Order: sequence, then structure tokens, then C-alpha cells
Amino acid sequence: MPLPADYHMHTPLCRHASGEPGDYARRALEIGLTEIGFSDHSPMRQDNFDDWRMRFDQLDEYVEGIRKAQQDFPQLTIRLALEVDYLPGQEDWIRDLAARQPWDYFIGSVHYVSDNWALDNPNKLSEWRKRDAFEVWSVYFERLTKAAETGLFEIIGHADLPKKFGFRPERDCTALYERFLTAAKKYNCAIELNTAGLRKDCREIYPSREILQLAFQKGVPITFGSDAHAPEEVGMNFTDAIQLAHEIGYKECCRFVRRKRELARF
Ligand SMILES: [Zn+2]
Ligand SMILES: [Zn+2]
Repeated sequence: MPLPADYHMHTPLCRHASGEPGDYARRALEIGLTEIGFSDHSPMRQDNFDDWRMRFDQLDEYVEGIRKAQQDFPQLTIRLALEVDYLPGQEDWIRDLAARQPWDYFIGSVHYVSDNWALDNPNKLSEWRKRDAFEVWSVYFERLTKAAETGLFEIIGHADLPKKFGFRPERDCTALYERFLTAAKKYNCAIELNTAGLRKDCREIYPSREILQLAFQKGVPITFGSDAHAPEEVGMNFTDAIQLAHEIGYKECCRFVRRKRELARF
């Protein structure tokens, strides 16, 4: 069975990744992948919003870099995508970005649970300590549900990102997951199995087995992503992710071409 596509990887334009697109492509071929997609952190309307994404005036350079990798590695299918931050009120900006290039897919990700706190930022751990974990998870999943409901994304990224540093609520979160997955199903959003969680304090794929099980029951499709910020991370731990997906019952994952979904066995 072919390996699933790795649909989540970055470039140095986001200021916290290393290696050129060609280096990621070379690594993908080395480990036997046949398809990858670049999904770097999208620009915000205001470049000074934060310092871990490309500037708006670098969007064309980003696309040229991916096009070059496509030309240099014709034996590999390389998709053009973005990981887009969802914040309520940003919908028009996201539509504007969508119209600028013939993207293959958008990954919608929630990192910000307020205008100035990205909960996965290791420099802002003190914010976690000021708050109740359940409150943070609730706000996060409300935003994730809204992100799915916008219909602007083919894939929702790392669905249980708040577990990254291990701040887990004592209360049961099933209702939060249910609401989100119901929206994902209704608005045709896939969720990704993101192996970067295995490299973080939580030591677990995003999302958890529990969430993935609910997703399968509701018929929410999946993609795979390493969230590589360096070439050697491409396809990392895909064997674990594939095993998890198979155990739950998934036999197919999504591919996207110009924002149209196809299913592929894996
Ligand atoms: Zn990143
Ligand atoms: Zn992300």
C-alpha cells in the first residue's frame, strides 16, 4: 500500500523552519513518499501581528519556491497550500488569500485563543499557569468549531493542540470534541493526523485516539502531516500514524487538487 501524502510542512519564510523546499522534497523521496504538500504559516493582514510567519509581500516568493521544487522533482507530486491561522473576524482576509493563487488546500489551524496568545508558544507558558485548563480548551475548541463552520478550509490542523505542553483539563471534554467533529462533518473538513505531537511534551499524535475514534464514527475523513520544520522531519513517525488510523478503521485518506477532494487507500 502506498504511504499517505505528507500534507504539512514549512519553509524558512516562517522564520522558525530550516531547509529549502527542495531539501524537503529530496527527503520525501528518500523515505518513499510519492506526494507532499507545503503548508507554511500564512501571512496575516498586518505583518506585525507576530514574528513566526511569512510577511504578506513574501507570498509570491513562497509560491515560486514551491514551483521550483515541483520542476526540480518531477517524480514527486508537490501540492501548494497554506496553514492558515483562524481567528474570528479574519474570514475576509482568508478569502482574499484564497483568491490569490491556485492553492490545492488550506489547513485551518487555531493557535490563538485570544488576539495575543498563541497557546502553543513555548515563550508564553506563563499564560497557561494563569488560567484553568478547561477554560482554555473550551475557548480553543469553540474557535476550532467556528473554523470548520466557515467552510474556508479543506483540513483542520492538529485538532487537540492544547495538549502540547501537557496542560490537560480534569473535566471531560467529549462534548467539545463532539461539537467540533459534527461541524467538520457538516462542512466537509478533514482532520489531520499530525505526528509533531510525538516530538512535544505530550508525546502523542494530534489528535488523540479518543478524538480520532469519534471522528471515524461521524465519518470525518483524514489526512497525514509531519508538520516538518526541517527536512529530516518529513514523514516522521508516519508508521505510528498509519497504524493508529488502521486500528481505528480508516482505510482511506484525502488528497487535494485545486481544493477538490479525492480519496486514496493507504
Ligand atoms: Zn511552525
Ligand atoms: Zn500549526
